[in-house]
Amino acid sequence: MSASVILKARRAKPFFSRHPWVYAGAIAQVQGQPSDGDEVEVFSHGGHFIARGLYNSRSRVRVRLYCWEVNRALDEGFWRERLDQALHLRRDVLGWLGPGKACRLVFSEGDGLSGLTVDWYDGWVVMQFTGLGLALRREIFTKLLVELLHPRGILLRTEKSIAPLEGLDLTESVLWGDPPQEPVLIEEDGVMFLVDLLGGQKTGFYLDQRDNRRAVRRYATGRRVLDAFCYTGGFALHAAYAGAAEVLGVDSSSSAIQLAQKNAERNHLRQVRFVEAEVFRFLEEQARNRERYGLIILDPPKFAHRQSAVENALKGYRRLLALSFLLLESGGILVTCCCSGLITMDMLEELSNQVATKARRHVQILERHYQPPDHPIAVACRESSYLKCLVKRVC
Ligand code: SAH
Repeated sequence: MSASVILKARRAKPFFSRHPWVYAGAIAQVQGQPSDGDEVEVFSHGGHFIARGLYNSRSRVRVRLYCWEVNRALDEGFWRERLDQALHLRRDVLGWLGPGKACRLVFSEGDGLSGLTVDWYDGWVVMQFTGLGLALRREIFTKLLVELLHPRGILLRTEKSIAPLEGLDLTESVLWGDPPQEPVLIEEDGVMFLVDLLGGQKTGFYLDQRDNRRAVRRYATGRRVLDAFCYTGGFALHAAYAGAAEVLGVDSSSSAIQLAQKNAERNHLRQVRFVEAEVFRFLEEQARNRERYGLIILDPPKFAHRQSAVENALKGYRRLLALSFLLLESGGILVTCCCSGLITMDMLEELSNQVATKARRHVQILERHYQPPDHPIAVACRESSYLKCLVKRVC
């Protein structure tokens, strides 16, 4: 019999509405002695069954919820059904699986699998766990993914910052099959990218920017483009492919810059250059040299990991915007991305307004974007919405 978790009075509503994170502060009592990773049943204070989840005494998210049906165990059949639903979206609805393709197969809370991310890169599968319960079941997930996808290999990557929060002790490894001997080649809207699955950032590629890179292509033709925080050249190469006059990509990671250069050669895009530099300092120097661009893309890393970091994060964005305004010609296009869930679209738009007023520039929003459909947003867990992208004209 599973252990039971009884919630405090008046704390059950979000969980009846299928929010999957039960924080320690909402719990009145744990009956039975669940080990970390064990199945537990969660009840309201009045004793009504709410859902079934996995317990972790080491995490602030004491229980992650997965199933709202009474008497349904979290067994292999249950996980298979969840994976099947996730794969159906990418394979049959979106048509994003197949040779040479890359997409996110499982997006954690967005797919009802809190704590699991799975990406597909031309037949290779990369798994990342951000919750202990599913990490302890990694053999089941490996087996199911082999059955459902017939991949060439399954790799495990870990997000270093999350491991201590969850008590995860995972090493990067090959869980099944063969690792790729060299970077994997994928295609995105006609542009080819080499992806380093074992050594690259995250799982190797920023799959979540697919639609935003497509948006950038609409404005790139004939312009001088600056791609700040370019990683392996995502936005830069799409801009060049769309006919930009000249493209410069900047990133502080030397391995990313090396791969970006290889990507440019692979696509025969000769008007692209990449520079290894710290972006803030680079932009300041460019402003001193009175450089001018027709299109600037800002895609910084996550600045705000906690609520207490939001204010500083906004200062960072403010500085980036102010420097970009100095570098943009009149009528230039500014594309700003933000992957901090704690910073909302509203906050970004207000920030643009403040910086524009100070710089005496007229700024128009041309496009507002969020994340692509292989990163679905669960309405029960709006925290699964994190990516924002604004396309603006700066006159
Ligand atoms: N636009 C990219 C993804 C960018 S991810 C794409 O479409 O693929 C953020 C990038 O910022 C990472 O590559 C990281 O190496 C880089 N980075 C982080 N801080 C930086 C800094 N201060 N200066 C330069 N690059 C930085």
